[in-house]
Amino acid sequence: MFENLSERLSGVFDRLTKQGALSEDDVRTALREVRVALLEADVSLPVARSFIKNVEKKATGAAVTKSITPGQQVVKIVHDELIATLRGEGDPGALKIDNPPAPILMVGLQGSGKTTTTAKLAKRLKEREGKKVLMASLDTNRPAAMEQLAILGMQIGVDTLPIVPGEDPVQIAKRAKTQASLAGYDVYMLDTAGRLHIDAELIAQAAAVRDVANPRETLLVVDGLTGQDAVNVATEFDDKIGVTGVVLTRMDGDGRGGAALSMREITGKPIRFVGLGEKMDAIETFEPERIAGRILGMGDIVALVEKAQETLEAEQAERMMKRFQKGQFNMNDLKGQLDQMQKMGGMQGMMGMMPGMAKMSKQIEEAGFDDKTIVRQIALIQSMTKRERANPALLQASRKKRIAKGAGQEVSDLNKLLKMHRQMADAMKKMGKMGKKGLMRGGLG
Ligand code: GDP
Repeated sequence: MFENLSERLSGVFDRLTKQGALSEDDVRTALREVRVALLEADVSLPVARSFIKNVEKKATGAAVTKSITPGQQVVKIVHDELIATLRGEGDPGALKIDNPPAPILMVGLQGSGKTTTTAKLAKRLKEREGKKVLMASLDTNRPAAMEQLAILGMQIGVDTLPIVPGEDPVQIAKRAKTQASLAGYDVYMLDTAGRLHIDAELIAQAAAVRDVANPRETLLVVDGLTGQDAVNVATEFDDKIGVTGVVLTRMDGDGRGGAALSMREITGKPIRFVGLGEKMDAIETFEPERIAGRILGMGDIVALVEKAQETLEAEQAERMMKRFQKGQFNMNDLKGQLDQMQKMGGMQGMMGMMPGMAKMSKQIEEAGFDDKTIVRQIALIQSMTKRERANPALLQASRKKRIAKGAGQEVSDLNKLLKMHRQMADAMKKMGKMGKKGLMRGGLG
């Protein structure tokens, strides 16, 4: 899947990752090539543009950690941005089928794989969720299509609505609904007629069926190999009929990943499933991570970057912990924690971040800690000198007055901060004596 884009980007990143350092120019050069690659993969121009712009913004602002190369960092950012763009809200595989019988409307052009996908999804619902499913073909223009669904139904052991010659699609939809209610089906799937191109009649028919069935899900099936055309089809179907999701078929072929990216950006509709072959099991829930990994073709590098970042964080945490165990918890450490607290969105996020913090939450609460307090305490620490921060025991009454004044606060505020610092330092030391195991259990676990 997506070989074109994948190979292209691999080439670019191969060159990048071999360099030790990356200038802003290099980032730009790399992204220019990423952009060309996206366009070649049939991503539409505006989508490629906005994608690159986002990545550039993030890449330029991002700190490059020591243990990875800037090139790897760019890869990671491109990768993350791909996932963010591709991801919809919620679980793509979770179809809304409560309140039985739940109607699912299947729409799309002829040859997109609509009938096949209907049967694949029916099989999935039956096998994975134990649902009783009824399928009905509404393709009155093509008796062969109706028979095709019946044959697939027999193959997978899912019932199809008996074919009654002479009925129109709306009549069939009504009969499916009645049958599903009477016979206790959980889901009924309506496989609407397809045509080679979108025309007024096709849309009118699908809309009429939609109005009688009132579907919980309207899934648009599009051929993933058709690239930009697929996006146009999706836009039109969504405008005229309203769809709740897209199924991209033929993603097993040498598909150009661009369709997935553009589809998501332009229609705003979530991709729910991808078809990966002709067999009845060849369908998967859409996974942005997986698709992004395949687009980049370099999951190993992304994993490496993630590992490097983890290592770095672990190293920092360990260094900090060693100092705390020795009772070296100074004002700079406290400020570091307060800064982090702010970044993490206050107290809640902070709790799990720091060794022993969970144990101290009560003390902190008693100290009247809220986000405003954090800002004020940071201001106090900032008006101390470097030496005072490293060793707050140095603080004399006169210095305390000046520090409080410098931060626009009272000496009592500063005393509160100092008291909190002492309590925290004591607690750290105690935990240090409990040994590493105790610390892990007490704070990090
Ligand atoms: P419909 O006209 O939209 O109902 O399309 P069909 O369901 O009849 O599918 C047309 C052809 O595409 C059939 O030969 C299917 O087996 C094939 N097909 C459907 N989905 C996929 C897929 O995901 N991958 C591949 N390789 N073939 C598929």
